[in-house]
Amino acid sequence: MVITAGIDIGSTATKAVIFDGTIRSTAIIPTGWNPKEAGRSVFLEALDNAGLQERDVGTVVGTGYGRVSLSFSEKKVTEITCHAKGARFLFPQTRTVIDIGGQDSKVIAITEDGTVADFIMNDKCAAGTGRFLQVMTGILDISLAELGRMASGSKPVSINSMCTVFAESEIIGLLAQEVPKEAIAAGIVQTIANKMISLTSRVSCLDEITFSGGVANNPEICAILSTAFGAKFNIAHQPQLVGALGAAIIGFEKQY
Ligand code: ADP
Repeated sequence: MVITAGIDIGSTATKAVIFDGTIRSTAIIPTGWNPKEAGRSVFLEALDNAGLQERDVGTVVGTGYGRVSLSFSEKKVTEITCHAKGARFLFPQTRTVIDIGGQDSKVIAITEDGTVADFIMNDKCAAGTGRFLQVMTGILDISLAELGRMASGSKPVSINSMCTVFAESEIIGLLAQEVPKEAIAAGIVQTIANKMISLTSRVSCLDEITFSGGVANNPEICAILSTAFGAKFNIAHQPQLVGALGAAIIGFEKQY
């Protein structure tokens, strides 16, 4: 039996998928300060979850910004290719992937036969990424899950600054004016969605759209984007794993 592993070392989280034609096991851990160590630890955790040994795995494929530090992978592949591959496995009609991770966001256009046709990436600043949400929840002293719950059904206050640093000052000002946290939470969620909608205007987004990355764990952001695009909008059960899954599939295809 062919068994492969995909390891995605992201700026915030490191993910692993063990694959044998279906998803056999997964693991997610924080990347921390040592991406090399995180890659090794997440691999061992996923193996353990599958009841496997390292020698059982035929090919390990690395992806994510930290993939260069992965010393035991046979192959390294860009996140763009891996997210496209993972999304098509989960939702075979995917023509666009929207990925919002810890420090970048991207939109990937895919041809009918599954090849990456085009992509656009925002990796220059934290606006519109998970990092933006983390800074804002820090100011509000709430968790990411609470941010979603608070935002749900609340009228968003307008947050004018896209830059994380300026938005931070703006939110401190809103709290001083006693604007309710719920309205601020809804404003933060709306800001992320707006940023993403403006990014997607530069790539033709065809139906179906699959949303990946950690921020897709937020149901409110998913709902706003889904409404804004009006297309079939797929969200994986564990959206953070889409890149690692794609890497594992690329390894699997290499073995055949
Ligand atoms: P990377 O690959 O860059 O490490 P991930 O795709 O693993 O990024 O996503 C990490 C990001 O996901 C974190 O910055 C965090 O803010 C975000 N995230 C995780 N869970 C949630 C949630 N429930 N709501 C909003 N954002 C979330």
